[in-house]
Amino acid sequence: MLASLLVNTQKQSRIVLGAALLAFMTPQAALAADCPNPNALGTSRTLVVDPREHPRIGTMQYRETLPLADHEVVLTFDDGPLPKYSNQVLAILASQCVKATFFTIGSQANANPEGVRKLIAAGHTVGTHSQHHPLTMDRMPLERARQEIDDGIASTLAALNGDKSKLAPFFRIPGLMRAEIVENYLASQGIQTWSADFPADDWRHISSQRVYELAIQRIEAKRKGILLLHDIQPRTVAALPRILATLKERGYRIVHVVPATADRPATPTEPQQWYLHPPTETVAITRWPRIPNFVFTETRTLPAPVIADMDWRDADLLDHAQRARLPALRPTAWPQPRLAQLAAAPTLALPGADVFRVPEALGLTLLAARSPRLAQRAAGTAMPRSPAIPARQAKPPKQAAHQGPATAAPHGKRRGPAQHVEQPEPATSKPLRLASMKKRVPRAVASANAKRVPD
Ligand SMILES: [Zn+2]
Repeated sequence: MLASLLVNTQKQSRIVLGAALLAFMTPQAALAADCPNPNALGTSRTLVVDPREHPRIGTMQYRETLPLADHEVVLTFDDGPLPKYSNQVLAILASQCVKATFFTIGSQANANPEGVRKLIAAGHTVGTHSQHHPLTMDRMPLERARQEIDDGIASTLAALNGDKSKLAPFFRIPGLMRAEIVENYLASQGIQTWSADFPADDWRHISSQRVYELAIQRIEAKRKGILLLHDIQPRTVAALPRILATLKERGYRIVHVVPATADRPATPTEPQQWYLHPPTETVAITRWPRIPNFVFTETRTLPAPVIADMDWRDADLLDHAQRARLPALRPTAWPQPRLAQLAAAPTLALPGADVFRVPEALGLTLLAARSPRLAQRAAGTAMPRSPAIPARQAKPPKQAAHQGPATAAPHGKRRGPAQHVEQPEPATSKPLRLASMKKRVPRAVASANAKRVPD
């Protein structure tokens, strides 16, 4: 009984595991069955998008990009078809069972309509890339831009015998020279504008090795997205096998994108999937929390202050409101005499010359302010002399004349006894020198003293 139960359980678990594996492997298995190369990179899934819901994609220029999972890559090729290189690209993609999206130029399609049909026959998606590939769509008039877009679509459609179902409403602006009026026109036509998530600079004059390195480095940096390549460049043809091999090595998967139609609904997605790296709860955001209201509803309101409380100086004298009504400039209280009154005032007599004479005592007082010794003398003899004697004729006191700083003659001569007293330095320097000479001992005596042996 127990044994049969165990067997049944094992059988059931095997069935469940098998079903799960089948469900997981179905797309791969189906693709692998179609692919003759068992080691091919393959196309992991097909993504159906509605251009009207997401009119602009590619993080090189827009907010949104294709809703890809981590390690999912979409391959795109511009500027073809050019048989020499486009056919090689088709062969490489076929060898890896990889589906891509091609943006054809109208003039190229006119020249090589068979090349457009080969793209469709190989199962790739075909969008358009203008008629003549102008690199001025960001500044050309809308009418010209419309002409470029419409003609490019018409030429590619002509190569497909007018079968609109074979042409995807996908457009890539030449040189990615985007302009809002162009994007708005495309959106109004239900056409999705495709930028990219990473280029490989394969239009520049660089080696195929560099194209490979840039492609892988940039894919690794974002870990998913749309790769922009060109199927008209020999360096792209040379780099492509290694790019695909490395993507397989590193666990990347290729996604094929097709437009939604009436009988093929868009793949269900969430809005945040259209962002390359949508914010998660583990990433800090700079949004401040709103302060809840209950903090304030529970707080008691303080009484409104009285006006008098705000004015501590003269609240009693004048009400604040009353003062506010007063004019800004009040008339001054000082009397203002008029010019006529000034003219009528009696004129004073001219002052006499003796008014300006300076008495001697006053002169002494002024000098005393600069010398404390003179200040004592000025205090004792400050008797005013006759105002009739002019200040010029009055003899200044001798001591005062010697001690003032004005006694220094213009040529540097000094007068008075202070000259001899105030020069002690030369007199003292000589005796000092003589003393030192007297102490000097003759060399012969010194040497005799040095040789003397103590007893
Ligand atoms: Zn181009």
